[in-house]
Amino acid sequence: MKFDLPVIILKGLILLPNNELKIDVIIDKNILDTSEMLHDSKLLIVSDLDALEETIDLENLPKYGTIAKVEQKIELPNGMMRLTLFGLERVSIESYLQDEKNLDAIVKKITKFSINKKEEEVIIKKILKEMEEYVKDLPYVSNSLLETIKNIKSLSKLTDIIAPCLQIDVKRLLDYLLCLNPIDRSTMILEDIYQEKEMFKVERNLDVKLKKELDESQKEYLLREKIKVIKEELGENNLIENDLDGLNKRLSELKASSFIKEKIHREIKRYESLPATSPEISIVRNYIEWMLDLPWNDYTIDNDNLIEVREKLDASHSGLEKVKSRIIEYLAVKQLTNCLRGPILCLVGPPGVGKTTLAFSIAEAMHRKFVKISVGGVNDEAELIGHRRTYLGASPGRIISSLRKAKSSNPVFLIDEIDKMTKTFKGDPASTLLSVLDPEQNKYFSDNYIEEEYDLSKVMFIATANYIEEIPEALKDRLEIVYLSGYTEYEKLDIAKKYLLPKICKEHGINYDCIVIKDEILLKIIRCYTKEAGVRELERLLASIVRKIITSLATRRINMNKFIVDAKKVEEYLGQSLYSYHKPRKTDIGVVNGLAYTYYGGDILPIEVSCFKGTGNLILTGSLGEVMKESALVAINYIKSNYKMFKIDYDKLINNDIHIHVPDAAIPKDGPSAGIALTTALISLFTDTKIDHKIAFTGEITLRGNILPVGGLKEKCIGAARSEIVKIYIPFDNQKDLEEIPEEIKQKIEFVPIKTYEELYKEMRKNNEKNR
Ligand code: ADP
Repeated sequence: MKFDLPVIILKGLILLPNNELKIDVIIDKNILDTSEMLHDSKLLIVSDLDALEETIDLENLPKYGTIAKVEQKIELPNGMMRLTLFGLERVSIESYLQDEKNLDAIVKKITKFSINKKEEEVIIKKILKEMEEYVKDLPYVSNSLLETIKNIKSLSKLTDIIAPCLQIDVKRLLDYLLCLNPIDRSTMILEDIYQEKEMFKVERNLDVKLKKELDESQKEYLLREKIKVIKEELGENNLIENDLDGLNKRLSELKASSFIKEKIHREIKRYESLPATSPEISIVRNYIEWMLDLPWNDYTIDNDNLIEVREKLDASHSGLEKVKSRIIEYLAVKQLTNCLRGPILCLVGPPGVGKTTLAFSIAEAMHRKFVKISVGGVNDEAELIGHRRTYLGASPGRIISSLRKAKSSNPVFLIDEIDKMTKTFKGDPASTLLSVLDPEQNKYFSDNYIEEEYDLSKVMFIATANYIEEIPEALKDRLEIVYLSGYTEYEKLDIAKKYLLPKICKEHGINYDCIVIKDEILLKIIRCYTKEAGVRELERLLASIVRKIITSLATRRINMNKFIVDAKKVEEYLGQSLYSYHKPRKTDIGVVNGLAYTYYGGDILPIEVSCFKGTGNLILTGSLGEVMKESALVAINYIKSNYKMFKIDYDKLINNDIHIHVPDAAIPKDGPSAGIALTTALISLFTDTKIDHKIAFTGEITLRGNILPVGGLKEKCIGAARSEIVKIYIPFDNQKDLEEIPEEIKQKIEFVPIKTYEELYKEMRKNNEKNR
């Protein structure tokens, strides 16, 4: 069937049947009389692929076109008309009829291909399945296409609807128009789908590869640029850049090994790349600061003139003969072997005897820097070796912090109170300290925060402790113990006159010669206002006196050459005297003097015992520690088993309750050294014999009556002399300690060494008989 239709030639556009196309045409009767086009009127759409050529060569136009109906006609304000065309069917073009105004064509309908229904169904299914994957795989194909095609039962329609949605060029689309057999068109569709999928895959691989390459080579650059821009926006660029300059300058001046420098360099780079708002930035900055602040290979040169060192020690501390010689010996060995290997010095003694200041003087005399940490109460090893950087608010431990303070890699490093560390679940600080002090290990000391090894082998460690018994055993092994015992009153007097007062006067800017203070006044201050083994309290009181003198000189505007401090003035300045040392109780039955070594030095320990009807119970009062309670038990049982020797009525022992009291409840008392004093007090009670109140006893007693040595004899004797004791029974094995007792005390007190209690008992009886 042939008929003619008006023709619209589309340049570079193709309309397939079952598709819609919107075109804008110029309303010009001379070109196309659109007014004639009614709704539903039909047109022939022919495509001219040569979009650039203005003239149309009818001969070369495709031999097939699409009949379209006008679905909509809208006049646009710009003098154009928008036509919505819908493709109806393919037709073959027989010829064109052209006059001046119109172009028509004579077309012929195409006979439909007959397709096997089954075959059509299978192909449709296949195409739908492939399309589903195609839409899923390719991000730029719309999902709505699937909705449109899912119910189409005609292969011809299906292929015509899908073809324009594929990523193909107009030439290929024209092939679809020219291909009349729907089965062939479906093959074309499958081909195109496969090809496109393949291309997409290749493209994607290429993309990934390219992206990766870009990532590698340009990521850092891009990021840096971004950071720069952000920082500029935030106005921080200059700040950080200036900071970086400063850090890099400090790094170049650092004496550290190249390994350490490299590490710091890496951290600086990290710091540079972090945005200013990053929470990490301050952590990194802090770490860099620590690393740059630490002294790396920064050594001071030692003063090798040991005579000068000794002179300086003498100038700062009185007495302490043994300690000073030991220190000089230590330094001499160090000088000869040029290393500090060997035990670490540990100064042991009560507070205020000059341990810290002596260590400081050693540093000063050796021309070394001085740092000090106190490990008293430390129960967490992290306090010494820091926390890992990942911890919030982490910082290095005390060892590294002190080295930073010292600004030197070989300072004198004082570790105070090593007897007061405690071991808890947080770790054992003593074993950590061991690795710090051990010359084998401390070359490679590692702080958790710093992470890198730090060489501590050139540091001169000095430890201090109050009680040797409480130093952890493993540590004690590494230490060379040097004892500094308490001072006698006369030693204190000497220190006050020669060291403390001149020092205090100098510090307060007053001439020492202006102050006149007699020895007896100083002794009164020592005796009545201080209770200590050392001289710290004394120093504080003297400083307070000097300040009062200065104030009164200034306020009363008196210009005196001499300011006399007498007993009245002392009372005015320091108030009523604070302490009266234990005066021995009056000689009485069941009253005996023991000797104690307390935190404040030595003192007498009056013991009182009494008994009353009961069943042999033992009552103990007066802040007694566990060890002392055991001593009391040992004493009573020793007496029970030797009652015959002491001529004691056994019934009296078991039919009475015994009360032991050690007055002055404020001071806790412990230790086994009151053993023989307790025994003596009990024997005195049960034998009705008085013990002279000017006699004192110290020594541990065993169940067999043997007497074991005790510690702190010097301090005890100093205390005893102060309390006017004239005779002390001491354990035989303590005789060697007598050489340390100051001469002035030996002149006042008689020392009687004894091996067993029996010996002591006999000796006392002899004396008693003599005195009767
Ligand atoms: P420690 O460390 O033993 O507790 P310090 O070293 O702090 O004692 O000493 C306390 C004060 O006593 C310091 O001012 C120190 O100068 C002074 N001092 C202690 N012993 C002497 C001494 N032998 N000669 C001079 N001053 C001393």
